[in-house]
Amino acid sequence: KYQGEETMETTFIMIKPDGVQRGLIGDIISRFEKKGFYLKAMKFITVERSFAEKHYADLATKPFFNGLVEYIISGPVVAMVWEGKDVVATGRRIIGATRPWEALPGTIRGDYAVEVGRNVIHGSDAVESAQKEIALWFPEGVSEWKSQMHPWIYE
Ligand code: ADP
Ligand code: MG
Repeated sequence: KYQGEETMETTFIMIKPDGVQRGLIGDIISRFEKKGFYLKAMKFITVERSFAEKHYADLATKPFFNGLVEYIISGPVVAMVWEGKDVVATGRRIIGATRPWEALPGTIRGDYAVEVGRNVIHGSDAVESAQKEIALWFPEGVSEWKSQMHPWIYE
């Protein structure tokens, strides 16, 4: 057992259709890997409208909701579960602000996006929403495995 194991979390990260089409999959996965997080589950899928509406249910009343759903179903996405210490909040910082013009250089959205409606990637915003999103996207469950790099990343 290593220090900080209590703060170990999992988060749901999705590379949106524009990120896939633009060839950013490798770079995005690499950023999370190099940070020291580890990939627990991953799949490449195109989701249906009703599924996208469920994922973004909290935004159903927003004027951009239909456009957002069209965007998410427009092509395949990469759905992933990442684990690590504080990975929910830190993952959001790696991703950067929702509106790319506010996202700092060095973040994924800061480096690769211009429009809020084409901002390349999704990340859960809280531990509870991460659990909900992982259950929605991975109803088959996530297989347990421990990365051998743990002792090199955690004290
Ligand atoms: P985040 O993805 O950073 O958690 P939100 O949960 O607020 O952001 O919104 C979900 C997604 O909806 C955003 O990532 C973005 O693609 C889209 N979106 C948010 N606000 C707008 C907007 N004003 N116009 C168009 N699309 C938006
Ligand atoms: Mg959100």
